[in-house]
Parts: sequence; C-alpha cells; structure tokens
Amino acid sequence: NRKRNEERQVQELTRAYESLQQEIEEREKLHNELMQAKKMEIVGRLAGGVAHDFNNMLTPIIGYSDLALLRIPHDDPIQRYIKIINEAGQSAAKIVRQLLAFSRKQVLEMQPAILNETLGNMARMLASLIGEDIVIDFDIRKPTRMVMIDAVQIEQLVMNVAANARDAMPRGGRFAISVSDVDIENDTEHKIKNIEPGQYVLLKLSDTGSGMKPEVLEKVFEPFFTTKQREKGTGLGLATVYGIVKQHNGHIFVESQEGKGTSFEIYLPVTDEALQEPVVATPDWMNGGTETILVAEDNMLIRKLVCDTLQPLGYKILEAPDGAEALQISRDYEGEIEVLLSDVVMPGLNGRELANKLYEERPGIKVIFMSGYTDDVIARHGIQDSKEVFMQKPIVPSLLAAKLRTVIEGK
Ligand code: ADP
Ligand code: MG
Repeated sequence: NRKRNEERQVQELTRAYESLQQEIEEREKLHNELMQAKKMEIVGRLAGGVAHDFNNMLTPIIGYSDLALLRIPHDDPIQRYIKIINEAGQSAAKIVRQLLAFSRKQVLEMQPAILNETLGNMARMLASLIGEDIVIDFDIRKPTRMVMIDAVQIEQLVMNVAANARDAMPRGGRFAISVSDVDIENDTEHKIKNIEPGQYVLLKLSDTGSGMKPEVLEKVFEPFFTTKQREKGTGLGLATVYGIVKQHNGHIFVESQEGKGTSFEIYLPVTDEALQEPVVATPDWMNGGTETILVAEDNMLIRKLVCDTLQPLGYKILEAPDGAEALQISRDYEGEIEVLLSDVVMPGLNGRELANKLYEERPGIKVIFMSGYTDDVIARHGIQDSKEVFMQKPIVPSLLAAKLRTVIEGK
C-alpha cells in the first residue's frame, strides 16, 4: 500500500514538473516574440526617419528632371542626361517606398475586398515571375470574408514572397497559395501567437524549396538581411512584407526547415464594411485649369516644384511657407480658393489644423494633403474622406496635375 502511495506521489510530481516545464517554454516563447517585436519596432522607427528625409530630397530631383524633360527638345543630347537623373531618382524612391512600407509609415488606400478576387487577378503576373519549372498551386476558390486591404500593397506582399520562393527552388518545385476563413479562439496556441480572438482571413503561402537554417529564419524580416549575392538580394523583400501585414493590423508567421521548404501564414482581420465602387482612372495630366490653389509647404524646394508644375498649366497659385501664413493669405484673399494643397507636418499650424480652419472660413474648399508618411496627426484625426485626398511623396508633377483635376472636378 505504501509503495502504491509512493508511486502515485511520484506520478503526481512528474506531472506537475512537466506542466511547469511547459509553462516555462510558453513564457520563453512569449518573451522571444516580444523581444523580436521590440527590435522590429526600433529598426522600423530608424528606417522610417531616414526614409522620410530622403523622400523630401528626392521630390525636387525627380520633379525637376520630370519638368526639364518636358521642356527640352526631344533631339537635344541633354535629354539623355536628364533621363538618367530621373531614373536614378525613381530607383531611389522605390527603395524609400519599401523602407516606408517596412516602417509602416506608408499612406495606404484601404478598401474592403475579397482576398481571393484580389489574388485571382494576379495569377498571370505570378506565373511570369515564378517561371515554368515551378508549379503554382492556387487554392483560392472558396469564397472568403471581406478584409480591409490596400490591394496594391497586398499584391506587392505576394510578389515578394513568391520571388523568394522562386529563388529557393532553382530546380523547380511547388508554390502554393491558399485563402481560408478562420475563427480565432481564446486558446493557448493563439495566445502565444498573440492574436486577438475574432474572425480572420488566413493567407498561406508555401514553397517546397531549400528552407532556412534557424539563424536565418530568425532574421528574415529584418531590413537589409539577405543571404543572396549583391545585385540578387536587397534584403528588403520580407521587411516590406512584414510592414505591410502590420499596417493591415494583421499577423505573420513563418515556418521553415532546411531541405523541407518554407511556409508563411498571414492573418488579416475581417471587416464588416461593404464593397465600394472602384475608383475611376485619372484624366490626362496636361489638363490644366484657371482655379486658385493655395499651396502650404515648409520645404522650399518642394513648394517651388509644386508651383513650377501648376503655374504653367494656368492655375493661380497662392504660396505659403507654413500653416499660419497660409491662413493669413486665405483671409486676405477675396476671390475663391478651390483647393488647398498642403504638407501635413509644418511648424506652428500643421496641415490638419490648417484644413480644419479653412473648412470653417471657406466651406466648399477641397484639400489635398501631400505627405511622406502617415503622420500621427492624420492617424489621430482620421481622414474626412469625401473632400480630402492624400498624395504620397515624392510628388511627381504629372500625377499631381492629374490628381488636382480629379479633385476639382469632384470625381
Ligand atoms: P532578399 O530576397 O533580397 O534576400 P528578403 O527579405 O526577401 O530579401 O529575404 C531575406 C532572406 O530570407 C533571403 O536572403 C533568404 O535567405 C531568406 N528567405 C526568404 N524567403 C525564403 C524562402 N522561401 N526559402 C528560403 N529562404 C528564404
Ligand atoms: Mg526577396
């Protein structure tokens, strides 16, 4: 009897020990996730700051070379020089955009969408990216719930993951994409993953490629981390993916083993907003107008670029180096002002506050914000969508002119 008692005690102790060990493991996992998230946060902030400054510097480089190309006769040999400047500026802007995406500072155009439709439109693009040796397994027929997405960003995400899959399968293989509806319960697995309970759409992307060593896996989302040769890899692909997912309030997980392939799981929260009509295409950029535009921008080069773009198109331009002066100019000006074209972060009165003041004093005025990134100011006050529009910096003259027409004509 005593022996049986002892055995039972040992059993109980063993069980207690095991559950304690499990708890320790779970805590360790949670801790690691947290440290990883913190690290990403800090790197993101750094990258975002650099990107913001570069964005401002690239605006005049791209903008003025654009304008010069329109002015210089086509057969002038200078055309070629300016084109090279313009293209170099565009390439730099592309890197800046990836950094902004990673640091979650990119202005998104969120629309409710059905994910499998968005992905369905990409089939051909994917096939040409990934090549003939790799079979694409598209499992997106099931109807899925609605998610709020910036479709361009989600396409970018899929392309980045697919490009990596291609690189990991030089001798062919299988790349699988699936979409499904999942309900997250309040259980341990998801507590470790730190996902709020609720309804999600799960996007799975997996390949049968080389897989990754644990020390590579640990760093995949860090910007500029690459195991590829120069020219082949920038290390920005998955950093961008990470930023895009986070900016969609989603979650991303990766599993990989050397020789066994890699799989990404992306959870996007479901929205209950209704589908909207697609936005119509923008009109031809050379269309100018005679309306009066108030331009508020503290960066002199960007302000000049905006004026140099719009003045030759016929617009009357009122120019202000900050919000307070813009307000004063508006008060002194007796005619109508159709559009305020404003930077968001300015000393003193910022763009948001300026717009709000002008709505009071000049009801009917339309607003275009030019922003390098989603500043706190916007996040806190939201977008008043019907009359406000965002333009992502760097400002490209042709796009600016087109957007301005669209806004004025109220499309
Ligand atoms: P890049 O592709 O420019 O190297 P990424 O951020 O896209 O940058 O990826 C970072 C690194 O993660 C890659 O260099 C590679 O080592 C690893 N990696 C990413 N995706 C995969 C994959 N599907 N299979 C194997 N390794 C991968
Ligand atoms: Mg890549």
